[in-house]
Amino acid sequence: MNKETILLIEDEKNIFELLKYNLQKEGFKIFWAPDGKEGLELFSREKPDLVLLDLMLPGLDGLEVCRRLREKAGFSVPIIMLTARSDEIDKILGLEMGADDYITKPFSVRELLARIKAALRRTQTPEKGEKISRGFLELIPEEFSAIFHNRELTLTPKEFSLLYLLCKHPGKVITRENALETVWGYEYYGDTRTVDVHVRQIRQKLEQIAPDENPIETLRGIGYRWRG
Ligand code: CA
Repeated sequence: MNKETILLIEDEKNIFELLKYNLQKEGFKIFWAPDGKEGLELFSREKPDLVLLDLMLPGLDGLEVCRRLREKAGFSVPIIMLTARSDEIDKILGLEMGADDYITKPFSVRELLARIKAALRRTQTPEKGEKISRGFLELIPEEFSAIFHNRELTLTPKEFSLLYLLCKHPGKVITRENALETVWGYEYYGDTRTVDVHVRQIRQKLEQIAPDENPIETLRGIGYRWRG
């Protein structure tokens, strides 16, 4: 059986040692690069199933490495950012070429493992042949295709999944907790701000095409609803 492989790009060797022990125990194979340049080389050579990427790296910083990884692999390989700074979260999640997820240091290995497994699960393909039409929006999950007013929306996988969740239940309230559980697939330790960041991104993209339509309604303190 092929082991799933994880690439860790992180300059702190003790984090590698800690993760190596724990990930191997869980049946993963782990590669380590102490900086972005080596990380990008290892990525091309080993084609890992998932990348753990430190934000603060010597040389190329984590966001630049993330951007270049996306150029190489599109969104087929999940990237989880490791960061010591919670004020960077908006930046990490909001970026067009952004990470799929993040975890702040110091983190628990158990939590990181849960996120790794959830991210790997999400890369599996959605149900076949499904198509959703809501007004001027059309979603084809299988192809990650979103067309709005006959124009292609460029969405990250999380944005797509969130939009899909909203459209699948038009007129119904999707609570932020519900969105976390469905889109992120695990207990997110109550960080519902993640959902708000993603909804904001989706809205901006919809507004670029139809500025006045505002199809996603906010229910303050509760969640969101696709009008219709
Ligand atoms: Ca570091």
